[in-house]
Amino acid sequence: MTKWEAFKKDFKLWLRFMFYLFALLLIITLLPGCVTQIDHKSPPIDFPQLKITIQVVDQVEMRNQCSKYSSAWEWTLACAIWNFDLNTCNIWIIRNEDDSILHHELLHCKGHDHFNDDTLEKAWNLYKEKYKWRPRSPLGMRFNEHTPC
Ligand SMILES: [Zn+2]
Repeated sequence: MTKWEAFKKDFKLWLRFMFYLFALLLIITLLPGCVTQIDHKSPPIDFPQLKITIQVVDQVEMRNQCSKYSSAWEWTLACAIWNFDLNTCNIWIIRNEDDSILHHELLHCKGHDHFNDDTLEKAWNLYKEKYKWRPRSPLGMRFNEHTPC
């Protein structure tokens, strides 16, 4: 085998390796963020108890509600949209999905972020920062129970 032939053989092997690596990365990327079984972090200690509503809808409506919270290539099956001003958390989930997806979104409503994410925690901290100047209500209400001006 000449040096050239050896190089070609190595190059073909390398090319095949890169192909499989790329295919693997593509599969990992395409895994939907909110559907895979991801462990959750504990919620912030003072995370409010939001009123949870569950909307079981068709694919079109679910996409309308959830697409702005996921990337275009993600296959979203549900999302949880929280609103600290209104003290609510609305879950949008498509029909016929199994309970594990609903359970996952319920955890988001209770303040659990994904392990590799801090979206909820950041949003909650920002919200607290926004209302820090407000005096504490004499009735002992927490800031999340105030409505905005
Ligand atoms: Zn999720």
